Amino acid sequence: SFSAIEITKDEEGQHAKLTTLTEDDLMAGDVTVGVEYSALNYKDGLAMTGKAPVVRRFPLVPGIDFAGTVTSSEHPAFQAGDKVVLNGFGVGEVHSGGFSQMARVKGDWLVKLPEGLTTRQAMAVGTAGYTSMLCVMALEQHGVTPASGDILVTGAAGGVGSVAVLLLAKLGYRVVAVTGRMAEAEYLKSLGAAEVIERQPFGDKPKPLAKELWAGAVDVAGGNTLANVLSQIRYGGAVAACGLAESMNLPTSVAPFILRGVTLYGIDSVMAPIARREQAWQRIVRDLDLAKLESLVSEISLQEVPAAAEAILAGKIRGRTIVKPG
Ligand code: NAP
Repeated sequence: SFSAIEITKDEEGQHAKLTTLTEDDLMAGDVTVGVEYSALNYKDGLAMTGKAPVVRRFPLVPGIDFAGTVTSSEHPAFQAGDKVVLNGFGVGEVHSGGFSQMARVKGDWLVKLPEGLTTRQAMAVGTAGYTSMLCVMALEQHGVTPASGDILVTGAAGGVGSVAVLLLAKLGYRVVAVTGRMAEAEYLKSLGAAEVIERQPFGDKPKPLAKELWAGAVDVAGGNTLANVLSQIRYGGAVAACGLAESMNLPTSVAPFILRGVTLYGIDSVMAPIARREQAWQRIVRDLDLAKLESLVSEISLQEVPAAAEAILAGKIRGRTIVKPG
């Protein structure tokens, strides 16, 4: 038997509790993994509290990402002892996930941990960091280089934002960090932000076009924030949009696109193809300062997950929170 958080649903709604499960409770799959670390993401906050219908099958173990060691496998690409990492593919939504000491999943969803990364570091990176890497790769492929100009990162003190700041600064970009928590300005500078600016004006009603300020941007907020960011992108620049921390809406106009040739890239980590994932994880090993990443990490136990889930939705979590189920 092993410990896990399980979400159940009755007439009153959904409930999350720490429980003991057996191997019979594991879901169908061809690879069984001893989970060493999981992580707490915004989406896990939504899943744990039921504030959005993230969980679509009950009972379910939440946790959209994990890293661990294969204990048994019927998949040709994996064998017992392999270190693996998993993000997305509906895990923690329709398939039981990482807030557990054990998980059984499809081998087709797993990425072998790249050389040079521990399971703990993989979850310090987690879905947030790997999504940041996908955003940075999109800007690079657009042709945005450090010489192009400043890069804006919204939600900079959050999980995706912090790692985006760290990555872009290491790659030589001049990063301007947007935060609602100016108390975190020194922290953001320690990650490599050249400037830290207030979130508030980005929440205002957007103009179709504003002064051209940024060569590129990583946006985790959506809503007015993303619309304002688009109106401030320099001619030919690009935005990698991955989140909705402010809103699902996008009250913009076509002006930035047709008058300034701005490009908006949508970034999805959940169904990203394995080849793209492997590329992102390789880049993480190469381009992320793992020692600095450690300074973003807080480690919690399964017991502490419910409170932390409330905190992440309230915007009170700084950096990356990893979960050690053992
Ligand atoms: P997080 O740690 O909670 O960070 C989100 C940050 O957004 C907060 O820390 C806050 O940063 C900022 N924020 C909060 N409310 C805001 C508002 N009303 N307006 C503007 N900014 C606001 O969450 P995360 O794990 O980094 O995820 C960030 C977003 O990306 C979420 O929407 C998540 O669902 C999404 N995401 C998407 C993918 C994908 O595959 N597309 C993958 C991972 C995450 P400050 O305090 O610094 O302002």
